This record gives sequence, C-alpha cells and structure tokens, in this order.
Amino acid sequence: MTDTAYGPSYLYIDGEFITGGDRRHQDIVNPATGQRIGSLPHARIDDLDRALQAAQRAFATWRQSSPLERSKILRRVAELTRERAPQIARELTLDQGKPLAEALLEVNTCAEHAEWHAEECRRIYGRVIPPRQPHVRQMVLREPVGVCVAFTPWNFPFNQAIRKMCAAIGAGCTLVLKGPEDSPSAVVALARLFHDAGLPPGVLNVVWGDPAQVSHHLITSPISRKVSFTGSVAVGKQLAALAGAHMKRITMELGGHAPVIVFEDADVEAAAQLLARFKARNAGQLCIAPSRFYIQEGVYEQFLELFTAIYGSLKVGDGLAENTQMGPLAHARRVDAMDDFVNDALERGARVACGGQRLPGTGHFFPPTVLTDVPDDARVMVEESFGPLAPFTRFRDIDEVLRRANALPFGLTGFVFTNSIKTSTRVVNDLEVGMVNVNHFGITLAETPFGGVKDSGIGSEGGSETFDGYLITKFVSQASP
Ligand code: NAD
Repeated sequence: MTDTAYGPSYLYIDGEFITGGDRRHQDIVNPATGQRIGSLPHARIDDLDRALQAAQRAFATWRQSSPLERSKILRRVAELTRERAPQIARELTLDQGKPLAEALLEVNTCAEHAEWHAEECRRIYGRVIPPRQPHVRQMVLREPVGVCVAFTPWNFPFNQAIRKMCAAIGAGCTLVLKGPEDSPSAVVALARLFHDAGLPPGVLNVVWGDPAQVSHHLITSPISRKVSFTGSVAVGKQLAALAGAHMKRITMELGGHAPVIVFEDADVEAAAQLLARFKARNAGQLCIAPSRFYIQEGVYEQFLELFTAIYGSLKVGDGLAENTQMGPLAHARRVDAMDDFVNDALERGARVACGGQRLPGTGHFFPPTVLTDVPDDARVMVEESFGPLAPFTRFRDIDEVLRRANALPFGLTGFVFTNSIKTSTRVVNDLEVGMVNVNHFGITLAETPFGGVKDSGIGSEGGSETFDGYLITKFVSQASP
C-alpha cells in the first residue's frame, strides 16, 4: 500500500460487508487537498431494516453470552487495533485531516478502551437485598437493555465509535451504528476489527446515509431500545426529543465551550506552553478544547505574549507531512464558520494577535488564531467555535470569573491554573462542568468517566460508569414453595 492509498468503504450488516447495487454513493474528500479519495455507500431503507432485524436476532443469543466470551472478543479487538494502527491512522489522516502522529495516538489509545471494557464487563454485578421473610430471596439483576442505535461524529471517528461499540457489546447489547459520512474510514476499520475478532453476525452493524433520515428511522423503530449520540447540542436535543417521544434511554455526549481560567499565582509560562499545544490538537475540533480564555489582569499581557508566540508559530499543513503540527479543518463548512466568528468578534471590538484569516490555496486550512479583549457577548465567547480560535478576556477576581464561566448553558469541561489549593478547590466545587482539569490535562483515559452536565449531555462513557447506560435493572423477589 502506498502512503495515500485509501481502502473501499462498506456498510456492515449481519456480518456482511456491503457496497454497490443501486445505493446512492457519496464522495469522500481529503480535507488537506480537496481531492476525492473514495466513495461511501448510503444505506437504503431496507438496509436499515435488515440491520435492525439482524441486531434483534443476534440479541436473543448475545444477551446470554458469558462475560468471559465478550471479554475475549474485546481483548482481541485491542490486539488487532494495535497491529493495524499504522494503516488505520493513515486513512484517518487522509479523510479527517489530523496530523498522522495524532491519528496514531487516537487509534493506539483506543486499544486501551477495548481492554478496559474487556476487564469491566466481567464485573457487571447485581446484588442481594436481605428479605423480610426467611423463605424469600430478593435480587437485583443487571441486564442488557437490548438493541442500541448510535451516532458518532467526525472529529475523533475511531475513538467515539469504539467507546460506544465496546460499551454496548460488553454489556451484552447489540448495536446499529451510523458513523460520520465525512470521515468514514475509522468506522469501516472498526467493523473489520470486530468481525475478525470473532464477533457473531448481527451483534454490530454499521450504516451510512443522510444523518437526519437514518437517525429518525432507527430511533423510531420499535426494535431499538437505546440511543447514544456524540455531536452538537442542537442535534443532540433533536435526537433526545425523538427518543423521549418513544421512551428510549439516551446517552448524549454533546458540545462544550471549555473555560480556561489562569490566575495570577499560576506558573504562567507552564500554563501557556501546555495550553498552546493542547489548543492545536485536532485543529481545535474537540468538545473538550480550551475555548474561552479568562486571564487574571495582572498576568494577561505576559500570558498573551507567551501563548501567542507558541501557538502562532505552529506549522500548519497536510497531516501526512512529517513536520505538520496542525492539520486542516475537517470540512469546508468549518472554515466558513471560523471566518464568521472572527468577523463578529472584530466588529465588537476584539483585536487579532495572530492568524485571523483562512489560508490561501487548496484544502480547508485556518491558522491558529488568538483574539484579544473579546467581549463576553461576541459569538466566539457564547457559541462552540470548534476550531483553532483562542479568544482572550481579562478578569479581576474569582467570584467574577466563576459567574462569567458559568453563564453559558454548556457544562462539559473546564481548566484552571493556580498554585493556590484554596483557589483550585473553590473552582473545582463551583464550576458547572462534568470534568475539571487543574494545572494539567488528565481527561479521556479509559478508566475515567467522560461526560457533561447542562446542555453538554446526559450520562458518562468510560470509567466504571461505562455500562450504566446499556443496562437495565430488574428486581426479583422469589419465595421458595
Ligand atoms: P452538525 O451539527 O450538522 O453535525 C454534528 C454531527 O452530528 C455530525 O457527525 C453529523 O453527521 C451528525 N448529525 C447531524 N444531524 C444529525 C441527525 N439528525 N441525526 C444524527 N446525526 C446527525 O455539525 P457539523 O458541521 O458536522 O459539526 C459542527 C458542530 O458539531 C460543532 O460546532 C460541534 O458543536 C459539533 N460536534 C461536536 C462533537 C463532539 O465531540 N461533541 C463532535 C463533532 C461535532
């Protein structure tokens, strides 16, 4: 395989890889070059129905499988993931754009997610409740919820999909998953990994198509029992409403707008170095990206200078080029969105410290951009920008910054830099988020829970909470005759 070879894409239904026929096909485009690199088959309605029926049939036996059997398959998935990581990562860079080293990191880290679920699925325990009569036994059983439907996005195509697959499959559920049509190779590779690891037909099914049509069909089907979605707040609310109308369980991992709070007593240089590199990850297209920078006034200029010097000089280019530190945005609509955010901020009095304009030439490139003295009502401070924009503002004291940081409906994650235990404890207690980082970045590990509050979602993935959304509680009260 040459460096730019891109394998074929398939639907995966009832253990078969399917393409062609009279199905609609969609072009797959390399965001670094704008060139067409492949073609993705969309599921017909009868494909979606076959996937649901296959998942329903498979559930009858998979729900009875021993946790040990599920665990062995997940371990094998982890092994195969590591073996195939170089090839999976290269295709991920080709259709998503992130630098190859980041793509490799994403894939290799996911082997740990598979291993974690392999371990934890053997510890899905019920409990015994002491009875009120001696001949009665009371038990709480935890059973798989049934056929799940899941929708995963394009920013971390391998990571987002494998976590949902492992959680559903490890719990004893079966799954129909729609991956991201813009960047499909990672999910096609995952279907192949589970298939080759020995997963029985129908336990996992992968489909593609028009997102709104596919999600409506899968969620409203009487076969599906649970909906899991990662993506924007707006779409998450639509899907949650649809799931609610049909009384289906949900896990929602939605957008964030992470406040970064740098206090005067922090190690400002270390904070600037860490934040500048983390901000560039995946060109800022991650829901936990630092995206609103609140800097205490005494260190504002110093932090701005240090951060901009590093962030503004990162090398932007094709993710396959060796020295690239930040790739293109995943598709053209993100570049247009960056233009709109910057223009709005400038109209409201902000200034550009670096970047600020899309890069000329082919590909969807927007440079690392720092905006300074951005007012709180600028769109970039209010909406999730999901790109390489770093808007800065000053604050005076902790009460003020907490009030401003908590003012938005988002509640995914936040970052605080301080050398005071009193200050960090206050922020940890009062910041309205599902995950807090103090003086470093420590989230997204397999063994730790990932999830938000407020508009950022419902439920957690990872950690020992990972199966909660995929299990139902059944109470048994049994009297001996
Ligand atoms: P979008 O809101 O149109 O789509 C977001 C994701 O949801 C995509 O993967 C898309 O295929 C899917 N989607 C859209 N409509 C759907 C539907 N009716 N049913 C099922 N899936 C549907 O926006 P976009 O331009 O693709 O992405 C930009 C925004 O999405 C960002 O601003 C960000 O807020 C959000 N996003 C969040 C995450 C995350 O990790 N939470 C990931 C990707 C995108």
